Amino acid sequence: MSFPGKDPIIVCGAGPVGGVLALYLAREGFNIVLLEKEKTLPEDLRASTFHPPSMDMLDRLGLMPRLIELGLIVSKYQYRDRRTGEIAEFDLSHIKDETKHPYRLQCEQWRLNKICCEELSKIPNAKVLFDHDVIKVIDQDADGVNILVKTPEGEKTMRGSYVIGAEGANSMVRQTSGLQYGGFTYPEKFLVASTPFPFEKFLPRLAGVNYVSDPDEWCVVLRCNNLWRVLFPTSPNDSNEKLLSDSHIQDRLQHLAPKKGDYEIGHRTLYNVHQRVADTYRTGRILLAGDSAHINNPLGGMGMNGGLHDAFNLAEKFLGIREGKLEVNAALDLYDRQRRLTATKFVQEQSIANKKLMEEKDPDAQKKRQADFMRQAADPGLAKKFLLRTSMINVVRESYTIQ
Ligand SMILES: Cc1cc2nc3c(=O)[nH]c(=O)nc-3n(C[C@H](O)[C@H](O)[C@H](O)COP(=O)(O)OP(=O)(O)OC[C@H]3O[C@@H](n4cnc5c(N)ncnc54)[C@H](O)[C@@H]3O)c2cc1C
Repeated sequence: MSFPGKDPIIVCGAGPVGGVLALYLAREGFNIVLLEKEKTLPEDLRASTFHPPSMDMLDRLGLMPRLIELGLIVSKYQYRDRRTGEIAEFDLSHIKDETKHPYRLQCEQWRLNKICCEELSKIPNAKVLFDHDVIKVIDQDADGVNILVKTPEGEKTMRGSYVIGAEGANSMVRQTSGLQYGGFTYPEKFLVASTPFPFEKFLPRLAGVNYVSDPDEWCVVLRCNNLWRVLFPTSPNDSNEKLLSDSHIQDRLQHLAPKKGDYEIGHRTLYNVHQRVADTYRTGRILLAGDSAHINNPLGGMGMNGGLHDAFNLAEKFLGIREGKLEVNAALDLYDRQRRLTATKFVQEQSIANKKLMEEKDPDAQKKRQADFMRQAADPGLAKKFLLRTSMINVVRESYTIQ
């Protein structure tokens, strides 16, 4: 039987990972069904940073001009010490010879999801089905996988030649295939609040992305279109109601930039912070990608970006198999190794280290951390090395060397 088989490839979840994977495969002529449990695409406050290698990949699908139009190019980002006022500023032009996109793009992830679904609607061999909630994997055999899906007409069995679980951290594909999601969840949650307040007028030299250390409370200040988003850690002893209350968010914003009167608050989100990786990304004809396969804290912006790198790696394996250049089992197992080892060895370690670094309370250690950033930012060679690592260029390259 020709690859991938007579049934379509079913991609579960129309988030950035499922959307991009479905689009890539559909454009290459594969029959694709993309299942999304929501009735319409959610516009939630989640990832907003696209790193250079992700943009280089999305460019291959022709998506970058529209994303750039909808987002904000940030060519410098900062580590700021509020106590001393010192600023270490990294200029991404140092990596201009390594990428077509030597900047971060600040753009909400839901905008990419919408673009993918719009593009898929133009492709005859692709179907996007909203209000289709994947309940479980029923079974798989030599030619395909059967899944149970809750639809507006009731529960249905659907069959795919392959089923890809890209439905986020609570993936039912992963859970009902018996795959483990090992790791841990931090006791504290992160709070994100957005405001139209012009922080740039009150915090000198503010860049589009700023990691701010402070003896009492660190935070991340990000620009996204006409809003600033601020991410704060919280205490595990406080209730969700308190953490999401106006008075609590006002206090936190006033601590960052004291001003007369209240802040106007836009969105607010409180979320659990996990560090987990599935024990395998493949079991037979079932594959995992994105948050369903791995999850990490958002410091460094590597969750969605890592998921997009999964999507491209997996799509390339499907193409290679169809063209007869790769053997099916070897190629899909290689996808698992390349992406899982990358998540475990780099993304988990780096994101855990990023969180520890931001949380550091010891004044001497804080001073040393800032001095290290300042030294690297000021030296073009060191800055380039730093940026190749933090922009995920190195890790994507290294992932393809794993055999
Ligand atoms: C506040 C916050 C900030 C973040 N910032 C960044 C950042 O700056 N950079 C970064 O790289 N990452 C960031 N992340 C992480 C990033 O949001 C995720 O890694 C990313 O959303 C993963 O994409 P995904 O497509 O795998 O899953 P998701 O985005 O979770 O998409 C899953 C999709 O599947 C659908 N779905 C769920 N269950 C089912 C089901 N049973 N059946 C059918 N459909 C289903 C959902 O409705 C959703 O549309 C952040 C996360 C948070 C919470």
